[in-house]
Amino acid sequence: MEIKITKNSNPAVKPTDESKLGFGKVFTDHMFVMLWDKGIGWHDAEIVPFGDLSISPASSVLHYGAEIFEGLKAYRRADGGVQLFRPRENFLRMNRSAVRMGLPELDVDFAIEALKKLIEIDADWVPYSEGTSLYIRPFMIGDDAKLGVHGSSHVRFLIILSPSGSYYPGGLTPVKIMIEDEDVRAVRGGTGEAKCGGNYGASVRAGDRAEEKGYSQVLWLDGVERKYIEEVGAMNVMFKINGQIVTPMLNGSILPGITRKSILELLRAEGKEPVERRISAEELIEAAQNGTLEEAWGCGTAAVVSPVGVLSYKGVDYEIGGGKIGETSQELYDKLTGIQWGRAEDKFGWICPV
Ligand SMILES: *Cc1c(COP(=O)(O)O)cnc(C)c1O
Repeated sequence: MEIKITKNSNPAVKPTDESKLGFGKVFTDHMFVMLWDKGIGWHDAEIVPFGDLSISPASSVLHYGAEIFEGLKAYRRADGGVQLFRPRENFLRMNRSAVRMGLPELDVDFAIEALKKLIEIDADWVPYSEGTSLYIRPFMIGDDAKLGVHGSSHVRFLIILSPSGSYYPGGLTPVKIMIEDEDVRAVRGGTGEAKCGGNYGASVRAGDRAEEKGYSQVLWLDGVERKYIEEVGAMNVMFKINGQIVTPMLNGSILPGITRKSILELLRAEGKEPVERRISAEELIEAAQNGTLEEAWGCGTAAVVSPVGVLSYKGVDYEIGGGKIGETSQELYDKLTGIQWGRAEDKFGWICPV
């Protein structure tokens, strides 16, 4: 399919101070838009000036949460080039989310091509400073202008780009997280393993409560027994217990993170044997008490690796690794970011130059 390009004749002034970018607040001059109709398929792929959408007040996304999204980054290499990290994984996951939410699948190769084209056009927007990146947000919405509840027959797919500041302007810092034992994020058979907006809608209350108490994120438990660890707000989670790296196994309600997958692949390539299994909150607390919980970290595209210094459960704070950044957390952060920004050799074929 041809991609029609309409250049923005009124480009925005780029922020000059990259230390003030923050996250997801500034957008580039262009966006990618493509439509889908039942019986026709995808059509009208276009790169157009970034701008507001016109949408029917009856649109299904506004009433019934017909929405899925992805999140990935483009990185500026030292030689000035721009590269992506495992974009195929994102679009493959988006297709799995689409199936779960009654939305149409994308042609993955075409989606990657469209993304590269869009970034090429807005290449000047990829920031240069240490730790900064161009955050990429592909998303798909069901857009039927009918109030009946059905699978979508008219859909829009878009990609928007946002230059974003360093997640750790002052270097890697440990966070305090709280095990949430009231609200649940997802259940098996629900939409936990789909990257859909609705999961976030259901999670903000617990997140806000945790923030009020001084924690940066919640650690979710399984929705049935409220016993087993699932994941952190928008990150998967890993622990080092007695020298062994463990992470909750993918069980149908956990989001299969690409950072999680990459860390497991990296560790296995080094001959280490991380274990994917069920981990109960009780086991964790016991390990924290007897000193065998050596490290804990969240992992996701935004933070890459986020060391956990304090874990709270039922009102009690447990310090992990003396509240400092663990050796493995730091190592994994350095290795992954090394590959992402092109400072280290990519032995895995994860990098996709733009
Ligand atoms: C996106 C996301 C993650 C992390 O996935 P990555 O592919 O590593 O960025 C983890 N949990 C949830 C709920 C997410 O939405």
